[in-house]
Amino acid sequence: MKAARLYGEEDIRIDDVEAPTPGEGEVLVDVAACGICGSDLHFYQHTDDFFDDEDLPQTLGHEIGGTIAATGEGVDLAVGTEVVLGPHTPCGECWCCEEGKYNLCRDLNATSARPGGYAEQVVESADNAVPLPDGVSPADAAIAQPVSVGLHAVRQSPLGVGDSVAVVGAGPIGLGAIRSAKAAGGGPIYVSEPQDSRREVAADFGADVLIDPTEEDPVERIHEETGRGADVAFEAVGHENTLTQAVESTRADGHTTVIGVFSGPAEFEPQLLVQDQRTVGGSTSHLVGPRLTEEYGVVIRQLENGDLDAEKYVTSRVGLDDIVADGFDALTDDESEERKILVCP
Ligand SMILES: [Zn+2]
Ligand SMILES: [Zn+2]
Repeated sequence: MKAARLYGEEDIRIDDVEAPTPGEGEVLVDVAACGICGSDLHFYQHTDDFFDDEDLPQTLGHEIGGTIAATGEGVDLAVGTEVVLGPHTPCGECWCCEEGKYNLCRDLNATSARPGGYAEQVVESADNAVPLPDGVSPADAAIAQPVSVGLHAVRQSPLGVGDSVAVVGAGPIGLGAIRSAKAAGGGPIYVSEPQDSRREVAADFGADVLIDPTEEDPVERIHEETGRGADVAFEAVGHENTLTQAVESTRADGHTTVIGVFSGPAEFEPQLLVQDQRTVGGSTSHLVGPRLTEEYGVVIRQLENGDLDAEKYVTSRVGLDDIVADGFDALTDDESEERKILVCP
């Protein structure tokens, strides 16, 4: 079968590899779509920071929807079942797993470092395969993973019904946070995002006030409109300027949840917290393992009832052969308006 494998920095090649076979408790899945994630872009651009030579070449891709093609022993799911896959396997034994905080597992994926979804087929633990209801296509369901990251951040935050919300950054993760903040009864939702097309989609996802930070100061605007600052903010970029903006946009005693992935240290003024008694917390991934469907299930229902429109979330679908030029290179091009690209083998 064909697989796109990472050999090193900005070096992905399409290889012919042996199709995997499912072991006990595993399923073989024909990949309908696999989304390109911000983390995949980090791996692509800074391969040496993440992989030892012996781990390469590596097939990336963890936002996967598809159809079960074969099952190993002890699997209840039938061949032909359409599924979305969870990306992580917690160890089940560390203190985080014991407390049900599976996404914080101290030894995540120790038992299953598998090739990913930029391939015609993948093998995954059947525990990570969530069957889809009629009317939700596996190709659309691939967005359950990134949307769940924003959903998890909202569930981690103290957001309550009627709370005003600031979201800094309307990329794939920010959009998920906007959708869930709206669903949780937050509002008004202020979104700061420099790209026109992203602001437009943010409005579709539930943003009430759209702010272009290249035209006006989002912090000033949010304080002006709320009279005191947002109750809750989300930082969904991963940059020191947007971190400061998110915190400054909150009121005294307000909270900021950081979801953006930072590639290094950030300068930050701690007095912003001390003086106005603000708080900041982080949020990582979404619930996984035995609790996977707690958050995936919400997104699947949103896709089913039309509250979430995959067509608006996804900007392009590309074939496996075009994964570099139309996928990774398009997403790492600052001029490009791409946001979420699905690779459809
Ligand atoms: Zn992802
Ligand atoms: Zn664990």
